Amino acid sequence: MEVPFLSLQDVTNKNFKELSAAVNRVVSSGWYLQGNETEQFEKDFAKFIGTNHCIGVANGLDAIIWIFRAYIELGIMKPGDEVIVPANTYIASILAITENNLVPVLVEPDIHTYEIDDGKIEAAITDRTRAILIVHLYGRCAYSEKIGALCQKYNLKLVEDNAQAHGCMYHGQRTGSFGDSAHSFYPGKNLGAFGDAGAVTTNDKLLADTIRSLANYGSSRKYVFQYKGRNSRLSEINAAVLDVKLKYLDADNGRRIQIAKRYIEGIKNPAIILPEYPHDTTNVFHIFPIRTGNRDALQAYLKENGVQTIIHYPIPPHKQEAYHEWNHLSFPITEQIHTEELSLPMSPTLTDEQVDYVIGCINRFEY
Ligand SMILES: *Cc1c(COP(=O)(O)O)cnc(C)c1O
Repeated sequence: MEVPFLSLQDVTNKNFKELSAAVNRVVSSGWYLQGNETEQFEKDFAKFIGTNHCIGVANGLDAIIWIFRAYIELGIMKPGDEVIVPANTYIASILAITENNLVPVLVEPDIHTYEIDDGKIEAAITDRTRAILIVHLYGRCAYSEKIGALCQKYNLKLVEDNAQAHGCMYHGQRTGSFGDSAHSFYPGKNLGAFGDAGAVTTNDKLLADTIRSLANYGSSRKYVFQYKGRNSRLSEINAAVLDVKLKYLDADNGRRIQIAKRYIEGIKNPAIILPEYPHDTTNVFHIFPIRTGNRDALQAYLKENGVQTIIHYPIPPHKQEAYHEWNHLSFPITEQIHTEELSLPMSPTLTDEQVDYVIGCINRFEY
């Protein structure tokens, strides 16, 4: 049997007719940017997340960049200010901070949740700290009441990188609505477009207006430029596609959760550490991360058996050449996760037979 990590073709085929109709509608309309489709999706996504505002932008990285850039334009932050961020995130979270000449302060994750360790944040706060950027990594909620309380106590902005967790809830509230939040609709994400796309959600009208302007050349009135902005707009075709897929997001996440439960109940191999199934939040399992001391052997074995896996991620940000100034730093938990993590196939289109096949392969793996 062949089990792909994620077949985007299968994901698209689920709603092929509806998606084609949406694309054709835009093609026929002759209107491709800043139109009804974007407006409708922004409205629907804000409602879904539970915020007053949504601004569609070009991609997820830009969404994070714009939040910090807007803080700077609004005088809330200035270059050199510090932002607390998990050490084990996708590089985009960190690039968005340094792009704005802000200083990332890396904090270790919890080895059980893989989310930022909220017990280690306070020690990292200095008088230059202006924000905590939490990343809902792998689809699990990183927010906690403790993090909310720290933001209050030290007057810090809470920014959420919700690229991997569309639909995730914390005590009934969606991630992406706790602070000012960035979303990526990269095709492989739980809510994915046909190409690059992203959005910011927020309850702050001034922030929303500033970001809408920044992402449109720094202009909110035609040919009048208030900021040195860029072109970072969401296309009408992608807005139309996303609006179709948004209707099925909760059901798709529900299927991901079923698959995760099946993995967790079925995998019985002492060499494998399974992800926790959290009870106080939903986990929308963008990724199903397992850990093992013999990761490369397990990956090769699964490949021989037709099971495609991916590593999220093989090299932590502080060991990247792009951040050579951090290469000497030591974050043991982060490094352990990057050494041991392996992501099993995960997609709402996987069948129970495929999942059981993966489980059988893993249970027969000899360490
Ligand atoms: C995908 C991702 C991003 C970046 O999104 P793009 O749309 O690819 O720019 C940012 N942060 C995290 C955690 C991601 O997984």
